[in-house]
Amino acid sequence: MTVEAQKETLGFQTEVKHLLHLMIHSLYSNKEIFLRELVSNASDAADKLRFEALSNDGLYEGDSELKIRIDFDEAKKTITITDNGIGMTRAEVQDHIGTIAKSGTKQFFERLTGDQAKDSELIGQFGVGFYSAFIVADKVTLTTRKAGVAEAVRWESAGEGDYTLETVEKANRGTEIVLHLKDGEEEFLNAWKIRSIIKKFSDHISLPIIMSREVDAETDDEGNETAAAHLEDETVNTASALWTKSKDEISDEDYNEFYKHVGHDFQDPLTHVHSKVEGTNEYTLLLYTPSRAPFDLWDRDSKHGVKLYIRKVFITDDAEQLMPRYLRFIRGVIDADSLPLNVSREILQQSKQISAIKTGAVKKVLGMLEDLAENQADKYQSFWEQFGNVIKEGPIEDAKNKDRIAKLLRFSSTHTNDKTQNVSLADYVSRMKEGQDKIYFVTADSFAAAKNSPHLEIFRKKGIEVLLLTDRIDEWLISSLTDFDDKHLQSIAKGELDLEQFDTEEDKQHQEELNKDFETVLSQMKDVLKDKVSDVRISHRLTDSPACLVTGVYDMSLNMERIMKEAGQAMNMMGMGGSKPTFEINPDHGLVKALKNEQDDSRFADISHILFDQAVLSEGGQLDDPSAFVHKLNGLLQGLLA
Ligand code: ADP
Repeated sequence: MTVEAQKETLGFQTEVKHLLHLMIHSLYSNKEIFLRELVSNASDAADKLRFEALSNDGLYEGDSELKIRIDFDEAKKTITITDNGIGMTRAEVQDHIGTIAKSGTKQFFERLTGDQAKDSELIGQFGVGFYSAFIVADKVTLTTRKAGVAEAVRWESAGEGDYTLETVEKANRGTEIVLHLKDGEEEFLNAWKIRSIIKKFSDHISLPIIMSREVDAETDDEGNETAAAHLEDETVNTASALWTKSKDEISDEDYNEFYKHVGHDFQDPLTHVHSKVEGTNEYTLLLYTPSRAPFDLWDRDSKHGVKLYIRKVFITDDAEQLMPRYLRFIRGVIDADSLPLNVSREILQQSKQISAIKTGAVKKVLGMLEDLAENQADKYQSFWEQFGNVIKEGPIEDAKNKDRIAKLLRFSSTHTNDKTQNVSLADYVSRMKEGQDKIYFVTADSFAAAKNSPHLEIFRKKGIEVLLLTDRIDEWLISSLTDFDDKHLQSIAKGELDLEQFDTEEDKQHQEELNKDFETVLSQMKDVLKDKVSDVRISHRLTDSPACLVTGVYDMSLNMERIMKEAGQAMNMMGMGGSKPTFEINPDHGLVKALKNEQDDSRFADISHILFDQAVLSEGGQLDDPSAFVHKLNGLLQGLLA
């Protein structure tokens, strides 16, 4: 068949140029990873072909022995990586090589700082892939033919602004990548060097990786040649699926390198779990926790990271059914023994076996995290910093495992008064005061606002610990996590506080007197603020601040209300509007005391409004009418100075 050679020159997407530049400059000390990345892609391509061929044997084109070849040519200064995997069509080459289609790419590049050390860390989150070829090559020629398609295409680029695409002929299916090495990279034109890189990075690849080896001529005792010098193919890797080996055959290095392959990451993982589950529904899992969040962790469309295999045949790497969303950062493989090979996506979605595997896999992952928390506190802390906010979705999404997930949670607390979230609910419970039966928390939209919340005053005075919840997700978390260890989680900004048990007789008497003492102030104030509050009462929470706002036990917290407003939710539409907070005043505060003797009604009203607005502000809230606040405050200040 003759194909007309259509050749066109196309420009790289801006992000690709950026990525190439960054890669070439920041990965220089780690050059040899290019081989790992290209071998990893070749192996994925073989996996994809094997899967497609399950339903269409013809795709093998008579060649079902999938393998990867690595050759080099000292004279031409080239290294060639060849696979007989799925290959790519012209459109696919254009989509995959030359464009980065991953969602969130743009935002990722906006985060780059120009500081090479920092950026090269970031690039790890992104994954380097094919473009790493340009770390060592100044020209790359990729020729590929998709299985079952006649037309082949050649892509070529010097890694600068553009690339060419050309229709060519290619007998064998699959992809061949020729790296034209830069001057100075000759060290890679060496069989021993390449072999040792493969051993180090790609030994776990389950396809054979083949290199030619020179075999010397053989001579007999008299020096007559009995066999001529020749080349022999040699498999340089172990070529068995890593997860099928037993643990004691696998080194930490092997585990780490395999992670980099399946996780498309170039940093070591934090921890892993490897286990074979026996029974009627047998499966093997090898799952990892990355050490760093991928750039698209918060992207709704981000891919799930667990690959499904059935008896070593790759099925899909987008198996939502295998991990719940709150564990979407987990990477690795699950290899199911007892599923039929001819599964479709639809079957997967409904499969009882898959859902049983998911249940089991989630347990293993939780076990892995529990183990990390228990035995490697530093690592767990760094895990929490990367993924804590995702784990907090757990109790909402996975009610069955709520108790286990709750134990994994970490918070800031008044015990440490530090922003670092490192207090577990169990820590809290172990420090509860005698007679205390609730776990107290306050929510706010920043650590500073939480730490300085007026609601905390009485708790600090009585020495009762309070959790400081300042992540957005916390409001949702505590709406589904209402109890831990039979103790109710109680917001200190909601309802009456039943701290009476910690009061002395004296305290109680004092409060009765106060209520009488302030009767008129309370009713007058209630009248002034009737549009804003449902009640005004003497506070048992405050020691230093003059006033604070309290919401009803079943009402939305003020912080939640703020989040909803920001998210553009119309309050009345949600049927949640109208619940006004209670206003509490501190009878020991000078300002409040002075109000008892205030004769001027309009000044009384102004001060009441100012106290109300201050209470909103001190919890990090926003005033409905800031200029009215300023106006009233200035009026009072002027009165002082006059
Ligand atoms: P990643 O592997 O992280 O997706 P790459 O830049 O390495 O990113 O590759 C981009 C895409 O190009 C791959 O997802 C795959 O679709 C395609 N690709 C790369 N190498 C090959 C190959 N050897 N055979 C077939 N497709 C490939």
